[in-house]
Amino acid sequence: MVKQLFLALFLLVAVRPVCAKPVVQASNYPLAYFAQRIAGERIDVQFLPPPDGDPAFWEPSDADIGKLQSADRILLNGATYEKWLAHVSLPDSLLWDTSEAFAPRFFTIKDTTTHSHGKEGAHSHAGTAFTTWIDFSQARLQAESVLLGLVRLLPDARKDLEARAATLTTDLDELDREMLSLARAIGDQPLVASHPVYHYLARRYGLKIESVLWEPETVPDEAALQTLRGVLTKHPAKWMIWEGTPAPESVAKLRTLGLGSLVFAPCGNRPETGDWLTVMRQNLGNLRAIPGPR
Ligand SMILES: [Zn+2]
Repeated sequence: MVKQLFLALFLLVAVRPVCAKPVVQASNYPLAYFAQRIAGERIDVQFLPPPDGDPAFWEPSDADIGKLQSADRILLNGATYEKWLAHVSLPDSLLWDTSEAFAPRFFTIKDTTTHSHGKEGAHSHAGTAFTTWIDFSQARLQAESVLLGLVRLLPDARKDLEARAATLTTDLDELDREMLSLARAIGDQPLVASHPVYHYLARRYGLKIESVLWEPETVPDEAALQTLRGVLTKHPAKWMIWEGTPAPESVAKLRTLGLGSLVFAPCGNRPETGDWLTVMRQNLGNLRAIPGPR
């Protein structure tokens, strides 16, 4: 009996060292970045979606599901971001929805056109817009929710987590203020976006954005250009906002239509260089290319 008890204790310790850091899974990179900023070395932040896809269309493998099930907390973007949740059984106690506070203000997209992104299957952007964090006031609410979720895991570290979260919310407030002032300079000028992911940015900052369904790495063919010309007749934009660096040929084709190109990366996935904050600061810097209205 005593032997069995020792064996049980040994197994318990072997499986889960008592001093192990809590494992926090983040369903997108912005949440992983927020969690890391707030808890630093106190937690093991994991972000499973592969680097070359959009985490919003991620389909976890069996191994991924095992990792999700053994996490101490799973940070969710909410706003229909985690389509995989419908196929994975996880206890509610693990899930932490970071956008619940502003759920009544989710934006609904009516367009039902389907398309695919490279290797990923066909999808539509109809329904709830999920790129919530590029409204930086919403990003702040999500960061505050991440803080609450992490304090539950590490109640003894509350003071430290709150202090670290305050430096993050200061950065988010600064992005919000700068974006508001940039948007005032842009004014009512029509803009086009390469993909329908900028609804919250447009709404918060009063930008006039119409979207097409282009990809940065795909050079628009004649049909795509025709669609854009159609948009331009009612919405005479001089700039296209891209999710990533466009192919030089695409930039040249747009130039012949009188449009400049600039990048505003939503940064739902981990960037090749820098982090979420440096990418957002770069985005704002890129928007400064747009001159004020004449
Ligand atoms: Zn898409």
